[in-house]
Amino acid sequence: MAKEVDLIKEKLDLSDFLRSYITLLPAGRNLKALCPFHQEKTPSFMVSPERKMWHCFGCGLGGDIIKFAMLYEHLEFPEALRFLAEKAGLNIQIMSPIQQREFGILYDLHEEAKNFYKSELKKNKSAVDYLSGRGIAPETMEEFDLGFASGGETLTVHLLKKGHDVKDIVRAGLAQKNTSGLYRDKFFERIIFPINNQVGKTIAFTGRITPEAEAKYADSPTPPPKYLNSPETPIFNKSRTLYGFDRSKQFMNESRSVLLVEGQMDFLGAWQSGVKNIVAVSGTSLTPYHLEKLRRMADTAFVSFDNDSAGLKALERSLEFFNNFDFHVKVVDLGKFKDPADAAKAAPEFLKEAIVSAKPAFQYIFGIYFSPENWDENDVPKRKRTIRHLLSLIKSLKSAVEENFWLKKLSGESGISESALSEEIRGIDELAGYVEEEGDEAGAVSADYSDAVAKRLVALALTKDKFLNILKANSQLLPPVFQKILENPSEEARGLLELQSSYEFADADEDKLEKEFRDLMRRLETVELRERQAIIKKSLKMAQASGKEDLMNQLLGDFSEITKRLNDFTK
Ligand SMILES: [Zn+2]
Repeated sequence: MAKEVDLIKEKLDLSDFLRSYITLLPAGRNLKALCPFHQEKTPSFMVSPERKMWHCFGCGLGGDIIKFAMLYEHLEFPEALRFLAEKAGLNIQIMSPIQQREFGILYDLHEEAKNFYKSELKKNKSAVDYLSGRGIAPETMEEFDLGFASGGETLTVHLLKKGHDVKDIVRAGLAQKNTSGLYRDKFFERIIFPINNQVGKTIAFTGRITPEAEAKYADSPTPPPKYLNSPETPIFNKSRTLYGFDRSKQFMNESRSVLLVEGQMDFLGAWQSGVKNIVAVSGTSLTPYHLEKLRRMADTAFVSFDNDSAGLKALERSLEFFNNFDFHVKVVDLGKFKDPADAAKAAPEFLKEAIVSAKPAFQYIFGIYFSPENWDENDVPKRKRTIRHLLSLIKSLKSAVEENFWLKKLSGESGISESALSEEIRGIDELAGYVEEEGDEAGAVSADYSDAVAKRLVALALTKDKFLNILKANSQLLPPVFQKILENPSEEARGLLELQSSYEFADADEDKLEKEFRDLMRRLETVELRERQAIIKKSLKMAQASGKEDLMNQLLGDFSEITKRLNDFTK
């Protein structure tokens, strides 16, 4: 279909097409608009007519003309192509009979694989015992077509016997060629959860390793992952698919709310205990595409991620997204339970009650950071870090009303005056969330931070040849991906940075641009110097252990030189 896609993009001008939906304004060499997919008062929706792409820096959605039609008109890919072809006056057959057959085969293969796995589960007592042990009832296993993959080439052989071509089986992501050139099943020694599209057709699988296999491979240098997903195929797009959506959409619509959980086990446990307005993110992080889809069904999102620090991180990362789509977010407090599956198993009524008493996200987050075990009045650096971290979360809300509300609450919890907090929050920039990790004892800087600095710097440099030349002369300071983007204008990722450039800097004045450019260059150099310091520290330890006095002296000299340069920066 690649040919049809190109034809449509050539015939239909992206900005003309978008003008029939939204008002476009100039922004540097690009265009901007109020985003039609999320609530906003200042434009974050950017369009590059030249690169035929769009991206919203408010909510994170983006793509080409086809993606826009899919999202705006709520169409699946082939329908969007047909819709656009008509607009373009093209009389093209969107799917040739061969292509239709190819799509059809992928669905057929998944249907047959699902049935095969399901019948295998009945023969495997220890897999059934494992599921029962996790609290999954036999009716639920049946209802959600749970299965078992023993592995080797059992599925592949079964599908070949049914008359399928091995090429199609590989294309569906169900088998792969190993290093000796033999075709083996993709899933082995795993409990299988079929993933369906919104009309209930199976399009992919998630496999959870059996406890036996987990123990068997525990000492292997490359142990298999606990959960494994099907690869992306023409019928399976990870960032848009949610586990259980086909079953739960009517319940979400009725209650105008959704319970979001991390994994399939959580979903099934909750479903069994009667919570049906639920979806699982299952193995990927939450994307704006998921939220755009859920927003059509629900106004309130109840979040119940794992009750640990990884779950908290996932919640914090998703707050901004939720807020952009104007969701009312509440967090379900799992109390002593480690995840929703655990809670549903121990006390079936627990989740329903916990949903009723769920707290607004920030109230929940404050509760964690200000708990007696995390908040220490006497540890000043940690207290400062915590406050800065919470302020950067509050700042990401982008709504002044919400910001004020939570600053007041934060002031109450921390005992710091509201005016001091308002002062502090003004000084927090986009990079603040990363900067706090700079305080690591090892002196090493997180890769996320240097990427964030490099990204902003390249976007800024794209506004002016002068900046671009300075940055090119110092490109060794940039992470390799950004060096490539800088050198090669046809790099695909450059398009996004050009849009970011127009979005962030098109309206800024000269002096401000100069100042920020110098500041970002300095941050990048600081990263490099800190990394060198970390290496010297390691070498020093080794030199010390082996008693090499000369080397130690030289290293100490290098170290103090770098420290001096770093100090000069902060003057
Ligand atoms: Zn948007």
